[in-house]
Amino acid sequence: MSLPQGTETSATGRPARCYIGLGSNMGDSRAVIAEALKRLGELPGVALDAVAPLYRTAPVGYTDQDYFINTVAEISATLTPRQLLAGLQQIENDLGRVRVIRWGPRTVDLDILLYGEQIITEPDLLVPHPRMARRAFVMVPLADLNPGLVVDGEKARALARRLAEEQEIARC
Ligand code: ATP
Ligand code: MG
Ligand code: MG
Repeated sequence: MSLPQGTETSATGRPARCYIGLGSNMGDSRAVIAEALKRLGELPGVALDAVAPLYRTAPVGYTDQDYFINTVAEISATLTPRQLLAGLQQIENDLGRVRVIRWGPRTVDLDILLYGEQIITEPDLLVPHPRMARRAFVMVPLADLNPGLVVDGEKARALARRLAEEQEIARC
């Protein structure tokens, strides 16, 4: 019997290594990211293992908005991808996120980039995150944490270097 996608933990029974993308461009974005990271580490079934440096990045998709602060966190998860998504959305809501414009300004965005090796293709949960490999604001901090990780058939470090030449991104 197979379970619905997103309801299994790692196949090994060990915690799954996951990467979470964080971004903010409203309010005190540094403080918001710090608070979101604290709450992420406090979710039941989540251990916060590492956090990349913060980056200031130009908005993509909808460009008439402030620059973002972005980073990526590495976690060990024993909760399922769906439970993780629910936890991330709870943090977004608690920190006052309101969705107005698609890809528009937000207090905080928390996305599941990778959940171990799992591939999930549900309408409301796509893992690996379908746009991560073309975003410098994701790939650069991800490469800081795990340069050899293969994303879309390419090492994170190589992908990050290429994207950083095309998109505005700076350590901050
Ligand atoms: P993008 O997905 O391009 O980064 P976004 O993060 O601004 O855009 P949101 O408004 O935060 O998009 O989320 C829209 C929906 O995306 C959510 O309701 C959620 O169900 C869905 N979603 C699908 N896959 C993921 C994922 N891997 N992580 C987080 N949300 C996801
Ligand atoms: Mg996002
Ligand atoms: Mg999101």
